[in-house]
Amino acid sequence: MTTRIDQFSSPAAVGSGSGTDEVNVWIIGDDEEVIVIDPGTDTAGVLDVVGDREVLAVICTHGHADHVTTAIELAERDEAPVALHPKDRLLWREAHPGDAADIEMEDGGIFEVADVQLEVIHAPGHTGGSVCLYCEDLGVVFTGHVLVAEGPVPLDGEFPDFAGQLTAIGENLLTLPSDTRVLPGHGPETTIAAAEKKFDAWVSAGPVVTSSPGD
Ligand SMILES: [Zn+2]
Ligand SMILES: [Zn+2]
Repeated sequence: MTTRIDQFSSPAAVGSGSGTDEVNVWIIGDDEEVIVIDPGTDTAGVLDVVGDREVLAVICTHGHADHVTTAIELAERDEAPVALHPKDRLLWREAHPGDAADIEMEDGGIFEVADVQLEVIHAPGHTGGSVCLYCEDLGVVFTGHVLVAEGPVPLDGEFPDFAGQLTAIGENLLTLPSDTRVLPGHGPETTIAAAEKKFDAWVSAGPVVTSSPGD
């Protein structure tokens, strides 16, 4: 296995739907090619990490500006496609009024890079088109705003669909192997086992936001 994961902290965007925290940009690949998950806002910064490796695709876990602002610009260098779930098209347009994404992701879709596969898990709640990307080969799941170490991520101080988000976490993420690393859109990584231990507390806390890990 020569595939590795690089992380880049993208400065927070200013504007509608953007959070106040740095965004975790994830770059998965080998010495030849990469896929970028959640490109963020800093094209030059991401390309610094990518180097001369070919960008095969730019995947957006959801449509919020802090995650997608540089998607088109970043994809341009290698004419890579940008992937987004169609249910986040309206959010995407706030950052990219004139450009559409190239790939409409759906649940179960597969991306291949280097010697691994990334599987699309549709996990609506934070937004209708939120997805996670599961890489069984590397034992990691990229969770965007579906789930961070502190729990499910609210939006502007509230949960648009708390029950849906919890269901997506319970049915689609906690069913993954418990030693799977959770690499989120903001903040430190966690594991499925750690999330499993906290899940009941999240459910009983209900959709009341006490601290926002960014939206
Ligand atoms: Zn964010
Ligand atoms: Zn978001």
